[in-house]
Amino acid sequence: MKQGIPLKHEFVEFIPAELQERTLYISIRFATVSHLCPCGCKNKAVTPLKPTDWKLIFDGKTVSLHPSVGNWSFPCRSHYWVKNNRIQWAEDRPKERIDAGRASDRHAKDRSCVIGEMPEVLPEQPRKQPARKKKRLRQKIKEWLGE
Ligand SMILES: [Zn+2]
Repeated sequence: MKQGIPLKHEFVEFIPAELQERTLYISIRFATVSHLCPCGCKNKAVTPLKPTDWKLIFDGKTVSLHPSVGNWSFPCRSHYWVKNNRIQWAEDRPKERIDAGRASDRHAKDRSCVIGEMPEVLPEQPRKQPARKKKRLRQKIKEWLGE
């Protein structure tokens, strides 16, 4: 079994703007853990510590996150566990689901190739006429009012 990618952890007050790779930044004050995606894509994964989100396990030497981290919003879609300062890759998505995704992509592309027919609009009468009529009427009213 692979040992996984080794990580180090840093307890910080604020999560720095620039993160170092293979480092878990842990802010107890803000109950947040942040790190760069271990695939090397440099996307920042943020795992809030909440009863409904992630739990941080600190054994005095190493940290673990529970549950696993799934970066579904990143192009890499990395999925891994942080266990005892190591990244352990989770199993990839089932193959058929990937194929289904690809098929739907193809479908979307096909649809975008269909160019909608331009509806032929034949104006029954020029639009300007009623406007002109109105203007004339307004002018007449003005005349009547002696303005
Ligand atoms: Zn990544």
